[in-house]
Amino acid sequence: LFDVSRPWLNRVIERQPRQYLRAVDHVSFSVAKGETLAIVGESGSGKSTVARMVVGLMPPSDGEVSIAGISMTDPRQAAERRALRRRIQMIFQDPYASMNPRWRVDRIISEPIRAFGILSGEREIQARVGELLTLVGLHPDDGKRYPHAFSGGQRQRIAIARALASEAEFLVADEPTSALDVSVQAQILNLMRDLQDRLGLTYLFISHNLAVVRHMANRIGVMYLGRIVEIGGGRELFTAPKHPYTRMLLDAVPDLAHVGRQRVPVQGEIPNPINPPSGCTFHPRCPFANDRCKAEVPVFRDGVACHAVEEGRLMPGGLTFVA
Ligand code: SF4
Ligand code: MG
Repeated sequence: LFDVSRPWLNRVIERQPRQYLRAVDHVSFSVAKGETLAIVGESGSGKSTVARMVVGLMPPSDGEVSIAGISMTDPRQAAERRALRRRIQMIFQDPYASMNPRWRVDRIISEPIRAFGILSGEREIQARVGELLTLVGLHPDDGKRYPHAFSGGQRQRIAIARALASEAEFLVADEPTSALDVSVQAQILNLMRDLQDRLGLTYLFISHNLAVVRHMANRIGVMYLGRIVEIGGGRELFTAPKHPYTRMLLDAVPDLAHVGRQRVPVQGEIPNPINPPSGCTFHPRCPFANDRCKAEVPVFRDGVACHAVEEGRLMPGGLTFVA
C-alpha cells in the first residue's frame, strides 16, 4: 500500500542560523494493507519527520514517497493525490491541539464528512456522527459537548472518530498514547487494534515505547539519527534483535530484556543530529564499534545496517562475539 523508496535527503532548518539538519536520510520501507508497521526510536531519531512526510505535512527535499502507487511528491499526480488525501489521516500525541475548542464535538467530527462531500443531508450527517462516536466507544450525545469536557483518552477517541469520518484507510499515529495515563493507554491501543480488525485499517505507528509497540506491530523499524538501522517482524525483532541499538533499546525495558543474551546497557545520549558522528552514527555509543565503524557507513542488508552483524562478529539475539 505504502512505499517509500530511494533515499530521502530532507533538510529541516533548525533554530541555529544557517545550519541544516538532515532529519531523515536513506529511509526506505513499505507497509502492506491491513498491517501495522511501527517506527521506534528515541526523540530526535527522525520518526516524527517520517510520519509528517507520509501524510504530506512535510515534503522531502529529495526522494520519493508513494502510497498505493500514487506519488506524494510528483506534481503531475496532484489530482490523484487529492483523492488519496482523505484516505490517509494522522493521529497526534495531543489531540486537543488539533481541535477547535469552540466547536462542539459533532461539528469536529462532521467537518471532514462535509469537506470531502461524503454525505450531504443534515440528518444523514448527524446519524453518521452518532455512529462514529459509538464506534470509538463514546455516546452519540457526547457530540453535543465541547472538547474541554473530555479526558485525554476520550479526546483521542474523538480524534480517531474524526479520522474515520473521512473514510480513512491508513492512519499514521505519532505517539498516540504517550500523553495518557498507563491504564488509558491500553484502552486506546485496544480500540485501535479492534478498529483495525473491523475496518481493515493500515497503521504506521510511531512510538518511543517498545512495550507499546510490541502489542501493536506486525513489523517494526528501528530509527537512529534519521536512518532505519533495523527492520523486522515483531516476534523476530524482540527475540533475536540484530542491531546493537535495538538490543540497547530492548535491554532498557526490564520486561523485554532477553534472558541469556549478553546485555547492551544504555550508554551515552543521542548525539546532536546537526553534526552527526562519522561512519556508523551509532559508533560513539556502541560496545561493538571498531575502526571500520568510525569510518564507513554500514549498508542496509538483510534487515539491518551494522558492520559487526555483516562480519559475523555479532549474532542475532543470543550470544555475542566481540573481536
Ligand atoms: Fe556498532 Fe559498528 Fe554496528 Fe555501528 S556498525 S552498530 S558501531 S558494530
Ligand atoms: Mg516526535
